[in-house]
Amino acid sequence: MLMQSARPLVELENTSEFIARHIGIEAADEQHMLSVIGEASRRALIESIVPRSIARTNPMQLPPAATEAAALAELKAIASKNQLFKSFIGQGYHGTHTPGVILRNVLENPAWYTAYTPYQAEISQGRMEALVNFQTMVCDLTGMPIANASMLDEATAAAEAMTLAKRSVKNKSNTFVVAGDCHPQTIEVIQTRAKPLGIDVLLANSHDEWTKALEGEYFAVLAQYPSTSGRIDDLRADVEKAHAKGAAFAVAADLLALTLLVPPGEFGADIVVGTTQRFGMPMGAGGPHAAYMACRDDFKRSMPGRLVGVSVDSHGKPAYRLALQTREQHIRREKATSNICTAQVLPAVVASMYAVYHGPQGLKRIAQRIASYTAILAKGLEQLGFNARRDSAFDTISLKTDAQTQSIAARARSMGVNLRVYWGDFICISLDETTTRDDIALLWKIFAAEGQLLPSFDAFEKGIEPMIPVELRRTSAFLTHPVFNTHHSETGMLRYIRALSDKDLALDRSMIPLGSCTMKLNATSEMIPITWPEFANVHPFAPRDQQQGYAQLDEQLRAWLCQATGYAGISLQPNAGSQGEYAGLLAIKAFHESKGQGHRNVCLIPSSAHGTNPASAQMVGMQVVVTACDANGNVDLADLQAKCEQHSDKLAAVMITYPSTHGVFEMQVKELCALVHQHGGRVYVDGANMNALVGIAAPGEFGGDVSHLNLHKTFCIPHGGGGPGVGPVCVVEDLVPFLPGHEAGGITGHAVGAVSAAPLGNAAVLPISWMYCRMMGAEGLQQATEVAILSANYISARLKDHYPTLYASANGHVAHECILDLRALKDTSGVMAEDVAKRLIDYGFHAPTLSFPVPNTLMVEPTESETLDELDRFIGAMIAIREEIRCIERGEWPQDNNPLKNAPHTAGALMKADWPHPYSREAGAAGLGDMRHAKYWAPVGRVDNVYGDRNLFCSCVPMSAYE
Ligand SMILES: *Cc1c(COP(=O)(O)O)cnc(C)c1O
Repeated sequence: MLMQSARPLVELENTSEFIARHIGIEAADEQHMLSVIGEASRRALIESIVPRSIARTNPMQLPPAATEAAALAELKAIASKNQLFKSFIGQGYHGTHTPGVILRNVLENPAWYTAYTPYQAEISQGRMEALVNFQTMVCDLTGMPIANASMLDEATAAAEAMTLAKRSVKNKSNTFVVAGDCHPQTIEVIQTRAKPLGIDVLLANSHDEWTKALEGEYFAVLAQYPSTSGRIDDLRADVEKAHAKGAAFAVAADLLALTLLVPPGEFGADIVVGTTQRFGMPMGAGGPHAAYMACRDDFKRSMPGRLVGVSVDSHGKPAYRLALQTREQHIRREKATSNICTAQVLPAVVASMYAVYHGPQGLKRIAQRIASYTAILAKGLEQLGFNARRDSAFDTISLKTDAQTQSIAARARSMGVNLRVYWGDFICISLDETTTRDDIALLWKIFAAEGQLLPSFDAFEKGIEPMIPVELRRTSAFLTHPVFNTHHSETGMLRYIRALSDKDLALDRSMIPLGSCTMKLNATSEMIPITWPEFANVHPFAPRDQQQGYAQLDEQLRAWLCQATGYAGISLQPNAGSQGEYAGLLAIKAFHESKGQGHRNVCLIPSSAHGTNPASAQMVGMQVVVTACDANGNVDLADLQAKCEQHSDKLAAVMITYPSTHGVFEMQVKELCALVHQHGGRVYVDGANMNALVGIAAPGEFGGDVSHLNLHKTFCIPHGGGGPGVGPVCVVEDLVPFLPGHEAGGITGHAVGAVSAAPLGNAAVLPISWMYCRMMGAEGLQQATEVAILSANYISARLKDHYPTLYASANGHVAHECILDLRALKDTSGVMAEDVAKRLIDYGFHAPTLSFPVPNTLMVEPTESETLDELDRFIGAMIAIREEIRCIERGEWPQDNNPLKNAPHTAGALMKADWPHPYSREAGAAGLGDMRHAKYWAPVGRVDNVYGDRNLFCSCVPMSAYE
């Protein structure tokens, strides 16, 4: 009897313990934290913060939380619905061998993937060195003087090349000439981008159309090199024609081909773009991969994206930092020319490491083998009666197959092979690093008729010449810097990768309390599936019936995100938050046009908005009108109302962030939405702060019409040092028809065209967010939100006597982040927020968000994943720094020689015989007393930003600089 009523000793139900692993705060901690804040329960705290009027009435409908093992098994079953055919499709996506040493030690290594964007230069030297290697690699291979640290994909990079040219050239024409044999997805994204800007895209689909177009009026030209069908054109005369008209010439080029081809920089190209996917990043159904952009020197100040440069630190030693940051959209806001923010840093690091590992000789060998195999393939096909369309090729040949086209493609599929059908009656075959002799034999078999004698590889092998025209063969050297010629043994490579990551501070060492960026746990079980072959080795343009696993992943994740946001429809195509904003505004614009209201083009944006908001509005051709914030950091409703009335006939949209970037839940958000709707506008709610909302309130329910999410913030995709991201665009019912389509990817008939190169964007990282939702369930997700809010309020309360929180609601509470006001310290001690940020490095912490959205403040967002112990350690460091500031205030240390101004302290500086400071070495080192944590040593002293911008240098540092 007794036995029956007692609980079993072992819990038989296999309940998810993941929630408790994801959320760092335990039940016992919670009571203590609540007492510090002054609330009785977590429920009471949340109710005192979230306006009752917006609180969710229905819980999210999600499957119940699964254990790690169960979720992995379920996802594996989904993944196995993807069929792994051997792909010869090409079109910008190729098979590649990710070197194991790079796969395990970069792509699968939290020291790399959990890093943040390198705004804090001193703790980001390792990843910035890798990015400088990337930039150098791109410059060398393209023959251009300057390259940025990655773009989102080749298609958006080409669209950015168009707008970069538009603002940089003298020619005032509105026409952009695009060669018809650029990759189709590139053409599509360019057309989407050009339309709202009033740029005419002139597509030249034949040699005659191309010649004619180049004789007309245009501001820039884009050609693909080699072309999508494999041809290698000599573009020299065309470049001259463009230059004679004061127009720019942009080239989309294959980096691997450029090891063998005359690089565009040597024939006068002004801008070169492309992808680095085949440098070791799996195809992953289209992403993430790093695209690149290089340009001529005088375009560099308006080049989009991030640029890593070399400067000096406080000891005069070379040190990296982000260069020319004033070009970035954060700073330029409505004057921005691009909205790119999160890019593709982790894939860029992989590509750069691939070049470091293989070196110039290795890359050339890979390229030569591909080119030779291609020539052998062509010869064999010729023997079988199929002639390659032209005789120039690097890795791709195209065959006119006429009426046989479909039957050949079908036979290929029946043999597990995907070929590309091009323009209805051509077949293109692209080879890559993974192609084997057996593959070539298989291809011949596909094309051979019954009983036809198959060609022999061996017979062609001897004396085979690549099909690269002699006048286009590269003679110049590349990748001559020692870094590309040193680490070719696996031991050497392993140590190089380790040495770089050891310089950096990422989430694997300590919390990164970045406001607005939500640096939460990126759980290992979420990360594991992304390199499963079933997800990694899918070509984005493989037939849809082979991508059933991705289709299901897409469908389920969208359904769950609809639950989380309250919206009716979602597209996962945008590959960063900025791209989601852009897609969302395109939807609003297309909606107004569909109602005959195409003249509505005013977009109201509060002054506190993130820089991408006005930048995105600009890109869809809207006129940005900035609205004021009141003294409490809220949108000034009176000003908003006045501007709505003033622009009523022309109002297209209002973009707000909720809760605001000031870290508060504005009480009147419902009224705000209603007001905008009254004037015929639509409400865009920037979803970057969804970590304060999931399970508690849904933008689609309280009045938002469109939002983007940042899956790389709220839904656990790691930041990767500045990308990859995923920025789903979410809309209410009547905007669903205006979500982006993708003709090349088979999503046809949409009013709005493609916004990314691949139909599912950065598809390969979607399993991360899927796993997160699946392991958390509705209750776990809501609990995460509540604990994130609890932790932010705990920090705000604990620090209030040291650093007051700038904005709070009437009861003194904040949302999931708080802005610490350091502005008064300037007068009392000469200390700026930046000094505190740098001093935190000595204590082993990454600084909070610096000076956004308010200058000279720090915005702290702890997230739900940190333990109370880690929160207390951070609070302890902040208080210790405040005590140091008090010493300065009391005059014990001079304002210009104290531990804050001299931070961070390198080990070298602390050990020097000469110690010209009024505080001890031990005090300078900081954090040594806390033996529980290994001391983090900054590899460089404070980096001089001004020097770096005055002496712009963005490639590998010559070894002599270190002497
Ligand atoms: C991060 C962020 C964005 C931009 O997202 P990306 O993925 O970096 O392009 C937009 N708005 C806010 C408030 C953000 O925090």
